[in-house]
Amino acid sequence: MEIDEPEQATDSAAVTLEPPRIRRLDESVVNRIAAGEVIQRPASAVKELVENSLDAGATSISVVVKDGGLKLIQVSDNGHGIRYEDLPILCERHTTSKLSAYEDLQTIKSMGFRGEALASMTYVGHVTVTTITEGQLHGYRVSYRDGVMEHEPRPCAAVRGTQIMVENLFYNMIARRKTLQNSSDDYPKIIDLISRFAVQNISVSFSCRKHGANRADVHTVAACSRLDAIRTVYGVSVARDLMEITTSDDNPARSIFKMDGFISNANYVAKKTTMILFINDRLVECTALKRAIEVVYSATLPKASKPFIYMSISLPSEHVDVNIHPTKREVSLLNQESLVETIQTAVESKLMNSNTSRTFQTQAVNSSVYTSQTSHISAKKDPQNSAFSSGTKSQKVPVHKMVRTDARDPFGRLHAYWQDGPASQHEKKSDLASVRNAVRLRRNPKESADLTSIHELLSDIDSSVHSGLLDIVKNGTYVGLADEVFALLQHNTHLYLMNVVSVSKELMYQQAIRRFSHFNAIQLSEPAPLQELLMIALKEEDVESMDDENDDLKQKIAEMNTELLKQKAEMLDELFCIHIDQEGNLTRLPVILDQHTPDMDYVPEFLLSLGNDVDWENEKECFQTISAVLGNFYAIHPPVLPNPSGSGIQFYKKRREGSPTKDLGNALANPEDAGEDDVDHELLSEAETAWAQREWTIQHVLFPSMRLFLKPPKSMATNGTFVQVASLEKLYRIFERC
Ligand code: ADP
Ligand code: MG
Repeated sequence: MEIDEPEQATDSAAVTLEPPRIRRLDESVVNRIAAGEVIQRPASAVKELVENSLDAGATSISVVVKDGGLKLIQVSDNGHGIRYEDLPILCERHTTSKLSAYEDLQTIKSMGFRGEALASMTYVGHVTVTTITEGQLHGYRVSYRDGVMEHEPRPCAAVRGTQIMVENLFYNMIARRKTLQNSSDDYPKIIDLISRFAVQNISVSFSCRKHGANRADVHTVAACSRLDAIRTVYGVSVARDLMEITTSDDNPARSIFKMDGFISNANYVAKKTTMILFINDRLVECTALKRAIEVVYSATLPKASKPFIYMSISLPSEHVDVNIHPTKREVSLLNQESLVETIQTAVESKLMNSNTSRTFQTQAVNSSVYTSQTSHISAKKDPQNSAFSSGTKSQKVPVHKMVRTDARDPFGRLHAYWQDGPASQHEKKSDLASVRNAVRLRRNPKESADLTSIHELLSDIDSSVHSGLLDIVKNGTYVGLADEVFALLQHNTHLYLMNVVSVSKELMYQQAIRRFSHFNAIQLSEPAPLQELLMIALKEEDVESMDDENDDLKQKIAEMNTELLKQKAEMLDELFCIHIDQEGNLTRLPVILDQHTPDMDYVPEFLLSLGNDVDWENEKECFQTISAVLGNFYAIHPPVLPNPSGSGIQFYKKRREGSPTKDLGNALANPEDAGEDDVDHELLSEAETAWAQREWTIQHVLFPSMRLFLKPPKSMATNGTFVQVASLEKLYRIFERC
C-alpha cells in the first residue's frame, strides 16, 4: 500500500487544476513575516537598537549580550528617552517620531524612519523598555508582545535615557532559531558592529560585553580623533599602518560628495578586507566601492594583503536613496560609478605616494625603526644598537586584538556578517588574479589581449622569491653606499652588500610587469629620433673598430630597427606606454617607479636592446623581454660620466695636446698635481650633480620602493647581488674605500 501512495498523489495533483483559494493572512502572520525580514539575526536587532540610541542623541551606549543574542540583547543609552504618553504605541508597526511625510525621506538625517524595528522585535521576541525623560522623578518600564503593551507602564527607578531588552529572540520561529543555534553565535558580529559604530561616532562611548562578564570586549571612551578611535578598537598594529585619505568632487555632471577616511599602507597584512563604510553617517555596504579599492591594492602593492578601509562619505541627502533595503544596509546613490571612480583614483595615488613619505620618516629618525613604539623599546635596551631592531616584530598583531582582525576568524569582520551565503562564496573566488584581470579590463575596456601571460609572469615572480632575502629587503636599513655599485644594508646584526644595479634592474622589471598596461607617462621634452640614437648605440658597441666602412652596415641595422619599432609602436604604446610617433621619434616613456626617471644617457642602449633583445613572437616572452629591457634601462646605473670623487677625476682634466696618455699616467701617480685650471669645471660639476643625484635616488627612491615592492628571486642569494659582510674587519676595509 505504501508504494501506491505517491502514485495516487501524483494522479490527484495532475487532475486538480482548480486554482487554490486566496486567503487574507492573519495580521499576526503578516507581522511575523515582515519582522523576520527586518530582524534577520541577533546582530541586526543590535544594529537597530544602537541606531535608535544614536538617534536619541546618546553619548554613551552599552550593549550586553547573552547566547549570541538569542537569549538576551540589552542596549542602554543616555539619550532623550521616550515620553510616557508614547509608550502605548511605541512598538506598533509604523510608529515613529522621525518621519511624517514621504517627502521627509529625501532629507532624513536620522537612521531610523520606518518605525518598524521595535515592532518587529516584539513579533519575534520579548521586548521590555525602561525609559526616563528629562525632568522626571522616575522612569517607566513596560513589556511588549506582538506590537502591544502587555501591561500598563510601571513606574520604576531609572537613570537617564532608555534601556531596551530583547529576550528569547526567534522563540516563535523554530527554523531560524535552529539555524542560528547551529551556526557560530552572533557575538563576534555584534562586537564587529559596535566596533564600527565606535569608529564612526567618536563622541559617543561604547561598550559591549557578554552577560555576566566583567570585562567589555569593546570599550571606547569619547576619543579626540578618528585615529584614536581606530586605535582603541582595532589596535595599535592596525592604526599604525593607516594613512589618512580625503577626496571630494563637486561637479554636478559627475558627482557631488566628500570623503574622508583612513586606508592601510603597504605594511598592513590581512587576508580579508575590512571595510568600514558610512554614507551620510549610515553604516552601509557598497560592494562596488569595496571591489574597486581591493583592485587598486592588488594592482599596486606586491603583498597579497587585503586592505583595511574606513571611509565616511557625505553627499547631498537628496542624492541618496536610503529606502532600498529592509535592513537599510544598502543605499542607492546618484552617480555611484563616478563616485567610486574618484575614490579609486584617490586611493591609488595615495598608495603610490605612500612609500616616499614612509621612508623620509625612517631616515629622519636615524634609521632606527618604523614606529615610536619599537624605537622606544630598542633604545632602552641598547641605544647604540637601535638601528638593529627590525620592524617585523612590531608588526605582529597582539593576540588579544585578534578577535577583530584575525583573518582566520571570519566572524570577526563585519563584512562576513553582512555578506551572507552567495556573496561570501563570490568573495572566495575573487582571488588576486581575477581581481587584477578585472581592474585591467575595467580600465582598458578595449584591451582584449589575453592577460594570462602577465599573470604567469607575476606568479613566476612570486614563486621564485627567496624568503630570507625578502626579510632582509623588507626590514633592512640603508647604511650608505660602499662603492659605485654596492650599497650597505643592515639587517639585525648583519651587514650586507647589495648590488644596486642588479637589484634596481629586478625591481624595475617587476614593477613593469605589475603596472603592465596602465602606466603613467613621462613626456620627453624633445622627441628623440630613433635612428640617430640607434646609430650612437651601435657605434658605442663597436668602439674598438675604427672602421668607417661598417657605418653603412650600422646605418642599415639602425634603419631596420627603427622600422621594426615603428611597426610595434601601437602595442608598445598601449601596453607599455613607450610612444613612438610616425616619424620614428621616441616621445613618451612609462613611469615605472614614481619619482624616478631613467637616465636619459642610456636611451640609445635602451632602443637598441628594444630592437634586438625582444622576442616578438610569443606573448609571454614578448612581455617579459620588453619588461626586462625597460628594467635594464630604468635601473640605477652608475652615471655615464665617471665618478669625480675617486681617480675618476682624471677624466675631467683638460688633456694637453699630444700626450694624453702620459698626462693620465702622471696624474694617476700624483693626483695632487692636477692644478685647478686643468679641470673642465662644467663637466665636473655635471658629474658631481649626477652622482649626488644618484645617491639620493638610491636612498630615497630605490630603498623605500624596494622595501615595498621587490620580491628578490632566489638567484640573488648566490649570484653576488647580496653578499653578507662577515666580519668587522672587512667592513672597515670597505669604509676606507669610500
Ligand atoms: P524608527 O527608528 O524607524 O523610528 P523604531 O521602531 O526603531 O523606529 O523606533 C520607534 C520610535 O521609538 C522611534 O521613532 C523613537 O521615537 C523611539 N525610540 C526607540 N528607541 C529609542 C531610544 N533608545 N531612545 C529614545 N527613543 C527611542
Ligand atoms: Mg529605529
